[in-house]
Amino acid sequence: MSAPDPTVVPPVPAGEPDPALAAWYERLQAAVAEELPAAVELRHQLHADPRISGEEQDTADAVVAALGLGEGRRVADTGRLVRVVDGPGRAVALRAELDGLGVEERTGVPWTSTAGVMHACGHDAHLAGLVALGRAVARVGGPAPLVLLLQPREERAPSGAADVVAAGVLVEERVDSVVAAHVQPQLAAGVVNATPGPVNAATDEFTITVTGHGGHGGYPHTTLDPVLALSAVVVNLQQLVSRRVDPTVGAVLAVTQLDAGSSFNVVPDTARARGGLRVMREEDRALLRQALTDVAEHTATAYGCTATVEIEDNEPVLANDPELARATVPWLTRSGVPVDDAWRSFGADDFSHFCAGHRGLMLFLGVDGGPPSDDGRRPGLHSPRFLPGDDVVGQVAAALLAGYLAGAELLGPVAPPD
Ligand SMILES: [Zn+2]
Repeated sequence: MSAPDPTVVPPVPAGEPDPALAAWYERLQAAVAEELPAAVELRHQLHADPRISGEEQDTADAVVAALGLGEGRRVADTGRLVRVVDGPGRAVALRAELDGLGVEERTGVPWTSTAGVMHACGHDAHLAGLVALGRAVARVGGPAPLVLLLQPREERAPSGAADVVAAGVLVEERVDSVVAAHVQPQLAAGVVNATPGPVNAATDEFTITVTGHGGHGGYPHTTLDPVLALSAVVVNLQQLVSRRVDPTVGAVLAVTQLDAGSSFNVVPDTARARGGLRVMREEDRALLRQALTDVAEHTATAYGCTATVEIEDNEPVLANDPELARATVPWLTRSGVPVDDAWRSFGADDFSHFCAGHRGLMLFLGVDGGPPSDDGRRPGLHSPRFLPGDDVVGQVAAALLAGYLAGAELLGPVAPPD
């Protein structure tokens, strides 16, 4: 046997990462580590002084100042787009949300917000992790053009993500993939979830108004009672998810609000129910919207009343791009985090709007939400006591780095760092 020819580069075996990307990973991971102490300080600063949806100007200014890369491009009123690595090719975008919630904080940390607004959904940590990675890439370079998106109005309509898409800036910036990370206390602390396909539900809001004929409570036979009719509608709706949707896929149809009458002895003219419809597949959305309307109208008719149904579009299904999700896993594993690829929830996030026109990937990060209360429950998202530890900033940065490298990998061959 002859000796192997040293000038022939052996092919990369399946499962081995591209050496150029692996070199970028090493370089960027080290650079991110250097940025973390300042990013944790930034997290405290943002947490102590949050802004409600639609008024995120000061938060955007603080994040842009921390990045130190200029003002960026304004989008969707209070949002910003900051380009880190320029280049002629397609770009990877990393998104973090700017807004807090109208929640009175009860964590007791020295950097507690006292404004009646709180980062109770982890957006402070998402922003800080994004800044750590953005500064690292600005300092040592990156394998593909990179755009940072500071998105406003995640927590309320009109959706900031929908407005960013409508503004056309992602197309103008030649964005191929959009990646985000979100804390999720329902996952075990330290685990990162990268499920391919649908991970969050499409949501619609519905309002059912039943109209009858009001009158004296003592003479029910002279009335057409909309309260009784609406009660039957609420019960009848419960069969739709259990009998019309594939149980292995699932859906949620929840009536969460009832409104009727003002006195014990008066039958009102109308009764109203409101609720939410959540699905993982667009075909179930169409089916359930029609079935909900049919059940409400026909049930009301059986009680001598009439029903009108209004359904308002909210978010589309959040579906992770399967290729991007799979390409991210090796980089997460390399950073030592356990990866989950199966978790899904019927929660919703307006990140779903990015998934419609781009490769999208939402990584959920398992965190411990804070000390348990007397009943043993740990605080969840939007709780006034929700506060993951500061290590979450590094967790966010590592997840976004993995998504950035995966997005770069899908764009084609990458040049190694100098
Ligand atoms: Zn959130």
